[in-house]
Amino acid sequence: QVITKSELIEYYDISGCYILRPWAYSIWEMVQRYVDDRIKGMGVQNVYFPMFVSNAALEKEKTHITDFAPEVAWVTRSGRSDLAEPIAIRPTSETVMYPSFAKWIQSYRDLPLKVNQWNNVVRWEFKHPQPFLRTREFLWHEGHTAFATREEAEVEVMEILAMYEYVYENLMAVPVIKGRKTEKEKFAGGDYTTTVEVYIGASGRAIQGATSHHLGQNFSQMFDIVFEDPATGEKRHVHQNSWAITTRSIGVMVMVHGDDKGLVLPPRLAAHQLVLVPCGLTVRTTEEAKRALLDKCNSLAAELRACGLRVHADLREHYSPGWKFNHWELKGVPVRIEVGPRDMAAKQVVAAIRYSGEKRTLPEEGLAASLQALLDSVQSEMFARAKAEQDARLSVCPDLASLCAALDKQHLILAPFCGDPDCEDLIKKDSARNAIVEEGVPSMGAKSLCIPFNQPDEIGPDTKCVHSHCGRKPQFYTLFGRSY
Ligand code: AMP
Repeated sequence: QVITKSELIEYYDISGCYILRPWAYSIWEMVQRYVDDRIKGMGVQNVYFPMFVSNAALEKEKTHITDFAPEVAWVTRSGRSDLAEPIAIRPTSETVMYPSFAKWIQSYRDLPLKVNQWNNVVRWEFKHPQPFLRTREFLWHEGHTAFATREEAEVEVMEILAMYEYVYENLMAVPVIKGRKTEKEKFAGGDYTTTVEVYIGASGRAIQGATSHHLGQNFSQMFDIVFEDPATGEKRHVHQNSWAITTRSIGVMVMVHGDDKGLVLPPRLAAHQLVLVPCGLTVRTTEEAKRALLDKCNSLAAELRACGLRVHADLREHYSPGWKFNHWELKGVPVRIEVGPRDMAAKQVVAAIRYSGEKRTLPEEGLAASLQALLDSVQSEMFARAKAEQDARLSVCPDLASLCAALDKQHLILAPFCGDPDCEDLIKKDSARNAIVEEGVPSMGAKSLCIPFNQPDEIGPDTKCVHSHCGRKPQFYTLFGRSY
């Protein structure tokens, strides 16, 4: 209800596909602007590659395609005639781009190569589709880079992950847990995957927020992307990364902050940070007094805009102030400013804060500065509230019994884990519970989310893997939880 009533999403007649309305697209544009500026500052250039990929290119890296194959959509016909060879629609563009990388990279002088594209991809997901979170077509950016050395590539993996952390924590006010995926969960064909994971308190489930992969030399070997070593003259394979954040992030933000009144937007990503609503007009108000109030609203809005605030003055006369309050609350505008004839006379306004429901009276003098300070504090308080919730729902569990008990409380779990994919399957199977997690959604066992960079403790000599039947020595604490 929140995403349709707040006018973020319109449903569509193809399952798993959704219309992003202006209110949602404006959030995406702000994420785009930030990411685009930041990667350009790192020397990345934008490109555009076709959305179609031949079977031959798609199949070049076997592990990669095996993982993606069930979700690839194919074009098999044009009009009434069958194509000689079906053409795939990109689920991601490694195999689309790397034949060109092989041509563009000849010498070490061509390195590093850093490109990015803003595009759509199609993954014909068989899991239950959900708006934003799991859609069959989604928008993202995908960065693809190639380096002469592994060290340079690995530095970039972490720089990109820090950028995604910033997008979630500083723009969306959503706390993340950064880490590396287990072998079972890493990107197919890559060396390792780093991730930002988010906890959604409302459902007690976690979700992968964005990923930055180190591909190693696997793809460069398959696609023959080589350069001549200046010292020895030998051919060497490049070291590659790929990284992405998608429109899923908008859904994550909606779920972390939304409440029973609707959407709650963090000020840094709200298209309207402030909405101005004229109040206190009655049938007895003279035309002149009404004009004066509307003029006041217009001049205040212009003044605030000139100071860099994103302000919308809702001066529609066929809607009551109450209707407008409700409308903008549902759409999650961070602060509503009410101006009435009495406020005007007293040279003040009333600010109503969406996330806390609190109201404050602010003097007109220095209004832009006090509203900017208010928006800054709303942004940091929204983050602090979400972080406190995440921290309160994180348990360290030494064994399967405590892991299951924590799962019943909808917690995230940090547990010592051996890292073995079969053991990971067993943990998921044996922690599946009878509890109903969400109406209509069957309960599920704990999935590994990541191996957090920030470990809670050292693995002691007597510590055992969380699954009692395992007996192997744990390698690290791993974050587990129910997940989307
Ligand atoms: P991947 O290329 O598999 O690493 O995916 C990149 C990012 O896309 C992941 O971090 C997810 O956050 C996101 N993602 C994966 N599948 C979907 C989907 N069906 N809809 C929206 N976002 C997705």
